[in-house]
Amino acid sequence: MPDPRRDIPRTDQILADPRMREAADRLGTRLVKQAVVAAQQRCRDGEIEPTAVADVAVASLPDRATTLRRVVNATGVVVHTNLGRAPLSRAAVDAVGTAAGATDVELDLTTGRRGRRGRGALEALAAQVPEAGAVHVVNNGAAALALVTRVLARGGRSIVIARGELVEIGDGFRIPELLESVGAGLREVGTTNRVRPSDYAEAVDSDTAFVLKVHPSNFRVSGFTSSVPVRELTGLGVPVVVDIGSGLLTPHPRLPDEPDATTALRAGADLVTASGDKLLGGPQCGLLLGEAGLVERLRRDPFARALRVDKLTLAALEATLTGPTPPVPAALTRRPDDLRPRARTICEALPAELDPQVVDSDGVVGGGGAPDVVLPSVAVALPERLAGALRLGETPVVGRLERGRLLLDLLAVAPEEDGELIDAVRRAAGNTIDGEPR
Ligand SMILES: *Cc1c(COP(=O)(O)O)cnc(C)c1O
Repeated sequence: MPDPRRDIPRTDQILADPRMREAADRLGTRLVKQAVVAAQQRCRDGEIEPTAVADVAVASLPDRATTLRRVVNATGVVVHTNLGRAPLSRAAVDAVGTAAGATDVELDLTTGRRGRRGRGALEALAAQVPEAGAVHVVNNGAAALALVTRVLARGGRSIVIARGELVEIGDGFRIPELLESVGAGLREVGTTNRVRPSDYAEAVDSDTAFVLKVHPSNFRVSGFTSSVPVRELTGLGVPVVVDIGSGLLTPHPRLPDEPDATTALRAGADLVTASGDKLLGGPQCGLLLGEAGLVERLRRDPFARALRVDKLTLAALEATLTGPTPPVPAALTRRPDDLRPRARTICEALPAELDPQVVDSDGVVGGGGAPDVVLPSVAVALPERLAGALRLGETPVVGRLERGRLLLDLLAVAPEEDGELIDAVRRAAGNTIDGEPR
């Protein structure tokens, strides 16, 4: 009996297939070869015929040279850490595409000389916060804090910070440990629940580098509590640095307890640090805003180079600041009355046997922000068993399981994604209802 394995087409034969050549131009030869080797192996294992190897290899080629997938965020969590925090606006995505090639990020095209790196993004940020004497951008919020600490508190100088603000952000990342890791000492004041202006005043001495106020963004202490507002920390003779966390540049009407850069600076903060990919809705980056002399010292420090942002980030940040409303701020303005008609339309387009229902839902800000705030939302409720198939579909959809149902919450879903959501549910249902594709 002939051994079919002897008829397996050779790698170079399959790679000569025009479809493979086109794919190799697009994806690179490594991914294409992987697809070929996997298809040959399936033939060797007797799963497919030798004549099918080329077709199977073509069918298994990835669309793009990244394993990252676009996901529809139907969790009701606007800034979802595991889904990459803020999705970029279309304008920001376009800007990233433009900046990806050779670009004038550090060249002044009028003079032909070196220009200030990322000037457009920095000017856009400064324009939105006129209270800041100067601004700088680094890799993320933690990098912004690390740079301030490194420059102002190196050599074991101390940072005065309230015990109630020694925050763990997520994934074991603790702000006090970060500060110590770049060489600062901590001078903790107050208790877990209360701190007074006099606690700070008594702690500040000649060894103090700065007073740090950290927004306890992901938890609330309620009951017998007190903290000291920024205004009352000025006048101690040392800089006041405020880590606002979420990156709001001005107050947000729906998030009254969320601190913002403008208010902190007006209250007398010398420096404000924040993340770019939380409520601002931009790329991962860390914002530093404040007194011009201090910002210049940070910018000029050798350590700043290790925290430098790349051109793609600068492009995305500029477009976030100057372009149309990005997805995160857009989601924060959605109301149940906007979402309900969309949910109804989606339900009507789904197979009746799924018994899709329009239900009220509680959305949240997420990303470790505004933990007390409920954003009233609307969801499509479906059978729980669809969750896995939806995650594994062509366009993965991630919902939320609640009381035995799968909720597809529309708060963080852009209206343009509704069609995709419908298609994804139909496909997932086809793959799970009595195993028959439909
Ligand atoms: C999120 C957050 C950070 C960390 O910012 P990253 O951009 O994640 O590095 C620091 N401080 C506060 C208060 C935060 O909320």
